Amino acid sequence: MKALKIDHIGIAVEKIDTALSVWSATLGLPLNGIEEVLDQKVKTAFMPIGDTEIELLESTDPEGPIGKFIAARGQGVHHMAFRVENIDKALSELKAKGVRLIDEEPRYGAGGARIAFIHPKATGGVLVELCERT
Ligand code: ZN
Repeated sequence: MKALKIDHIGIAVEKIDTALSVWSATLGLPLNGIEEVLDQKVKTAFMPIGDTEIELLESTDPEGPIGKFIAARGQGVHHMAFRVENIDKALSELKAKGVRLIDEEPRYGAGGARIAFIHPKATGGVLVELCERT
């Protein structure tokens, strides 16, 4: 698998508006826009920082993945995303190596990216997202 860079770091927050007062107003990161990803039951805000981005994730449904994460662990770092050249190839390589995946097939994430999550049990507790952008 060829990982090109850290595409973004995802942070689970209770409310994007409140989080923006820290990340944007206080820390000075520019807001690139807010988008709802229905499939993931989240609202996301992307803020570029150098060659990568910070992604804030607010749950739109307590039963969604971010809602459950916050209920169990509170707000905080949720995942890191590796930009890959070819997500289909990356997933088949990982499957061939027997790596446990959350997503066997890519799906669509914020900004039209194709994404898939590796199971945190496979990475010592770190949720890693693979992300292909065209
Ligand atoms: Zn992400």
